[in-house]
Parts: sequence; C-alpha cells; structure tokens
Amino acid sequence: MADKIKMTTPLVEMDGDEMTRILWQMIKDILIVPYVDLKTEYYDLGMKHRDDTDDQVTVDSALATKKYGVAVKCATITANAARVKEYGLKKMWASPNGTIRAILDGTVFRKPIMVKGIRPLIPTWEKPITIARHAYGDIYKNAELRVDGPAKAELVVTGADGKEIRRTIMDFQDAGIVQGVYNTDQSISNFARSCFNFALEQKEDLWFATKDTVSKIYDHRFKDIFQDIYDAEYKEKFEAAGIEYFYTLIDDVVARVVRSKGGMIWACKNYDGDVMSDMMATAFGSLAMMTSVLVSPDGCYEYEAAHGTVQRHYYRYLKGEKTSTNPVATLFAWTGAMRKRGQLDQLPDLVDFAGRLENATLQTLEEGIMTGDLVAVSSLPDKKKVNSEEFLEAIRERM
Ligand code: NAP
Ligand code: MG
Repeated sequence: MADKIKMTTPLVEMDGDEMTRILWQMIKDILIVPYVDLKTEYYDLGMKHRDDTDDQVTVDSALATKKYGVAVKCATITANAARVKEYGLKKMWASPNGTIRAILDGTVFRKPIMVKGIRPLIPTWEKPITIARHAYGDIYKNAELRVDGPAKAELVVTGADGKEIRRTIMDFQDAGIVQGVYNTDQSISNFARSCFNFALEQKEDLWFATKDTVSKIYDHRFKDIFQDIYDAEYKEKFEAAGIEYFYTLIDDVVARVVRSKGGMIWACKNYDGDVMSDMMATAFGSLAMMTSVLVSPDGCYEYEAAHGTVQRHYYRYLKGEKTSTNPVATLFAWTGAMRKRGQLDQLPDLVDFAGRLENATLQTLEEGIMTGDLVAVSSLPDKKKVNSEEFLEAIRERM
C-alpha cells in the first residue's frame, strides 16, 4: 500500500456514547486509519469518563478545540434521571454540547447531505439549506411568572448607578402570564460574524430574518447589528465572492425558503432555529443525513452528526445483533474535520482524501446500498439493506 497521508496538527477527537461510539471506532478502523497517519488528541466524552472526571474532560476538550482549531465529536448522552440511575452518576451532568458551545461561544450550522433517491419533501429544493441557529438567550434564558389576579406588570432595568428605567408591560384585570427575555450585543455580534464567515467559506448566500416590524427594539437590534457588521467588515468580501446578504421578515422568509431552490444559509434567532431545524431535517429526509458544525467567532470548528447516540440500536447491539445504523452523518463529521485541518495546514492530500471518502459514500448510496433507515425513504428501484459494517466496507471498495 502507498504511504499513508500525513498530518501535522492533531484533530481534537471527542469520543462519545452508545451506538455512535461503536460506529466511531468502525469508521476509524475501516475508512480512516488504513489511509491516514491519523493524529488526534483524544478526549473520552463517554458518560462514564465524564462522571469519573467530574466533567472536566468536556471542558478540557473544548479548551483543546480553542488551541488547535478543529474538533470532531461523537454523539454523547445528555444525562437525565434515567441515565443517573443507569450509569450510577455522581450528578446529572450538563449537556456536553451546551458546555462546549458556552466555551467556544459558537453558532451551530446544520446542513443536510443530499443524495439521489432521497428527495426532499419540497420538490423544488435542489441544493441543501443550512440552518444557522443563534443558540444563546431569548426565551431559553427567560424569567417568567403567572399572575393570579389584577396586577400591574412592569419591565424595570436598574443601571449600575442605581437609576431605574420602567415600562409598563400590562395592567392585568385578571389572571395571566408574563415573561422577560434578553440578549447581548456581544452574543448577537458573534452570531453575525460566525454566519458571515461561514457564508464566505461555503460561498453561499446568507439570509436572516426577525420580526423587527413588531419588536421594534429587540428584534430590530438583531437586524441593525447584522447590517452594521456586514457593511463595515463583509460587504466587499461578499461582493468579491459573488454572494449576497439578504434580510427580510421571518414570515416572508419562510415563504421564500419553501419556494426556493435551496443552496443558502438561513440564519435564525434561537427559537426560530429550534423549530426550523427540525422541520428542515424532516423535509430533507432523515436526521441520520444531517451534519452539524459549531463555528466560533474566532474561527474554531467542531464537527458532529446532528442525531443522538441511537440508544435503541445500542441495546440491540449489546444483545449481539449487527445493527443497520446509519454512519453517514458521523462519517461526514470526520471528513469535514479532516478537510478543514487539511486546508488550515495546507495538506492537499488530506483535503483530497476527505472529498474522495465523501464521494465514495454518496456513490455507495446511489448504487442502492444503504442502512435500513434510508431503505425506508429511498425511491431507488433496487436497494439493498446492509448492516453498518457492510455499509462501511462497501464505501471502502468504492474508494
Ligand atoms: P437519537 O439517538 O437521535 O435516535 C432517535 C431515533 O432516530 C433512533 O432510535 C432511530 O430510530 C433514529 N436514528 C437516529 N440516528 C440514526 C442513525 N444514525 N441511523 C439510524 N437511525 C437513526 O435520539 P434519542 O434516542 O432521543 O437519544 C439518544 C441519546 O442521544 C440521548 O441520551 C440524548 O441525550 C443523546 N443526544 C445526543 C446528541 C448529541 O450528542 N449531539 C443529540 C441528540 C441526542 P429507530 O429506533 O426507529 O431505528
Ligand atoms: Mg428542538
């Protein structure tokens, strides 16, 4: 065999849980290690090891991502009451993705992998639509109350000098509800820069929408920050790249997206992104074909699959079954990370390898060899259901 492809800087490797942890190892063994002199700095984010290290390993892996710039992450369990019992955890640890996102202060971009035979439910969509969700503040960090009878609700902001600003929200005549939300200029600016940078890198238009006609201060601030940063820092770069930044109202953008051919990045406020990303995953066919990358405003990248640890398949695997779990999104997390590492370190062989691996994967699917989840949605006339290992071997043959 020819010499393996060399790497110079390690990838930050964040291992994870359950079925995806099994796929993780298979992908490395079958498709990467035989061809690449793989350099990683390994962090075990499996539930047990997070518990053993009091979750320090998650923090360390995020700090390593800040240091090296590129990470690849396996799906991980987010602890809940059932997991505390199952793993005998010391406590209900925070979501690793939340911890990593807080340290990198990044934006998550979710992009579907499109392949012949799996048509989006919207027939006009020819290219993938990427959702960029601002994962900070708004209703996710609210303060809310029930009002149980006649009452005056006010918004009060007390400055550092003790000065108060008040606005009446509602003079309640009877029972009701009230909620306060916030965001920060800093976070919105970081969100904007992450989106502009990602659009330039992908060479795709960026669309952004809020409800600024109704929310004349709150949503309008998002619109203004995006526009100011665009005009000052990105306008010329966008023009040179032949791409566009486009702002409109949230209800207008929904209609335009449905009528579009796809191929753009759609930046969403936190709640809009929560709702729209699930709609997009469904409309594009499968959560197992959705990739996800966290991009920090200072240019660090963490690649992962959008789905979870596929717990139900794991329990069948533990009973000895060879499951037909789809490894494509996890594999594309690896190729995304290798391509980015190759670009940063000027390693054209590594960039090329990532492309070949992706092409061989798409070719395998288009020849009708696929995991069970895709057999159920594919319109190809001849399709064959294989298990995860057989699928990865079929990719290897084609590569
Ligand atoms: P899930 O792992 O995404 O799986 C839900 C179901 O979707 C599966 O049971 C399976 O359906 C199908 N599915 C998802 N990915 C698939 C794949 N690659 N191939 C084939 N089918 C796939 O969600 P979950 O079961 O709700 O969550 C399990 C664990 O994952 C939880 O502990 C959760 O905290 C964690 N999670 C982690 C992340 C992350 O790390 N980014 C994200 C979400 C959830 P069938 O069983 O019908 O085949
Ligand atoms: Mg959601």
